[in-house]
Amino acid sequence: MEGQSIVILGGGESGVGAALLAKAKGFQVFLSDRGTLKESYRNELRQNSIDFEEGIHTEERVLQANLIVKSPGIPDTVPLVQKLRERGTPVIGEIEFAARYTNAKLVGITGSNGKTTTTLLIYHLLKTAGLNVGLAGNVGDSFAKQVLHNVFDWYVLELSSFQLDTMYDTRLNVAVLLNITPDHLDRYGYVFQNYVEAKFRILQNMQADDSFIYFRENPAIATELTKRAVLPRKLPISLEQSVEPGGYFLNDTLYTQTDMASFALPVADLPLKGPHNAINMVAAVLAAQSVGASSEAIAEGLQTFQNAAHRLEPAGVVGGVTFINDSKATNVDSVFYALASMTTPTVWIAGGQDKGNDYSQLDDLARQRVKALICLGKDNTKLVAHFTNMIPQIFETRSVTEAVQKSLEWAAPGETVLLSPACASFDLFRNYEDRGEQFKLAVNSLQ
Ligand code: ADP
Repeated sequence: MEGQSIVILGGGESGVGAALLAKAKGFQVFLSDRGTLKESYRNELRQNSIDFEEGIHTEERVLQANLIVKSPGIPDTVPLVQKLRERGTPVIGEIEFAARYTNAKLVGITGSNGKTTTTLLIYHLLKTAGLNVGLAGNVGDSFAKQVLHNVFDWYVLELSSFQLDTMYDTRLNVAVLLNITPDHLDRYGYVFQNYVEAKFRILQNMQADDSFIYFRENPAIATELTKRAVLPRKLPISLEQSVEPGGYFLNDTLYTQTDMASFALPVADLPLKGPHNAINMVAAVLAAQSVGASSEAIAEGLQTFQNAAHRLEPAGVVGGVTFINDSKATNVDSVFYALASMTTPTVWIAGGQDKGNDYSQLDDLARQRVKALICLGKDNTKLVAHFTNMIPQIFETRSVTEAVQKSLEWAAPGETVLLSPACASFDLFRNYEDRGEQFKLAVNSLQ
């Protein structure tokens, strides 16, 4: 790569990782971020003598590059990216770039919801099975940095649609597609089909001896599959019927069957609750089987798994009322599954920054399971309008403390309070983690 110049657009975890890898591979590297960099990233770049700028993209300099690595946060529509494309400069993402420099086999996970949970679970199962495996993508250290510093045989990669958009030649040996429901449509010209196609890029370059694991009852996935030929081995997931080969949930038991192995485990021995997590767990077991993990290792891994915080996370029991923190539920579909997981009457705390939500998907569950709705957002008009006459009691607040106090007043012993907002958190909180932490603190202070 002597003399080849590379420009990295965006200096977050993935951009800085790509810069370090590029430098090590002999590129002339320049990193450009229109915002400000974290101090720790600045230091890392300086220590490695990597040139960078902040607050601006100096166009002449960017346009001189032979290769661009673009952050997933930068849309294709920005004029600078358009100009690069017009010039024919290749624009790729960090995953694509890093994949060029490793021979490790790759497991990729995508979907509108459930990526992190499933990625962490697959990683845990493979580790328990004794594989030499790394974890990257949207979680933890960047893929590029790990390719630079580690020698793993396998990587488990969480892939967003934005990352898939800038992947071209990377071959996944195992791919998981959990679901496709409307999200991020602002980046896809408000055309759902464009977003569906972005997700299906996960299949590109897969070969016949690779495995494609997908939830067959997601309507968008089912429709798209009728239009395409799929080369890798298909391993569908069902919540309705037995599918072999594939995986399914029947009679409170998780079953999988591939040409290599079969597996069964009762729900009592599974780490995660709710139908959405049933899908995630079946996907993880199929992925682990696809790479040759033994049934014993899979069963052990399932029993020792701990999910990341803010995803249907138990937040305490006060006066017999169970509190659950699902702050990560920032769209309607994830709330659908949260409500579907409730086994008692529920006081539901929701609201925040609306992303163009259509709440009608929740109507049946709201009628059956929700006794009261507490709106926690700056502007709750849409939630209130939709659920008035459907949920008996509705209360509005902008304070998490007040929301939690009110919920305890309304919930009877044995019932559940669920924070599952369906909205982004930026109106009242720094991010979804902040919202979840404040919720847990408020619950704690009641005890
Ligand atoms: P992602 O990384 O795709 O955002 P997470 O695992 O962080 O996914 O979960 C995000 C939210 O979606 C949580 O509220 C979680 O309870 C919910 N969720 C998890 N898995 C699924 C699924 N398979 N289908 C729908 N919702 C899900």
